[in-house]
Amino acid sequence: MPFNPLEWIVSTNAHYQPQRRPCLELKAQLDGFFSDELLASAGFVILDELPSPPRAQVAALGLDELLSPSAMGLTLADTYYLKPPAAGQLRVHFHELVHVVQWQALGTARFVERYLQEIRQHGYRQAPLEQMAYELEHRFALNPGSHFDAQARVLSLLGLY
Ligand SMILES: [Zn+2]
Repeated sequence: MPFNPLEWIVSTNAHYQPQRRPCLELKAQLDGFFSDELLASAGFVILDELPSPPRAQVAALGLDELLSPSAMGLTLADTYYLKPPAAGQLRVHFHELVHVVQWQALGTARFVERYLQEIRQHGYRQAPLEQMAYELEHRFALNPGSHFDAQARVLSLLGLY
């Protein structure tokens, strides 16, 4: 059966639902960057190993880079997965929340198609959707007390505002 990324995303999130924690837990630190509505709809799961499709399937898609052992987080729709060392780093939460916003703005099918295409074309670190997440994460990390509307910024950068 051919690998279907969309089915894998849905089944993975369903599998980890019992361990999922709402991002509203981070409201005190992320207020002013993300709306309550976004923080309530997004959630995170802490795992020793990030969820991954079968390695052969990922390689067939030309996406080996995504399985880097150094990866600390992975966003799948409204849920992101973090390794324990990343869970205490607010900037990593911020980065993954940018992906949640991108995902909501584009819709799952468009996000996945665009993300995979960008990784193939530019590589992981240079993919525009990643650059956006790193840029906003960096801005937050430099000055966590200086609020900006991260959701509006994402929509603007995506050309969707
Ligand atoms: Zn990222």
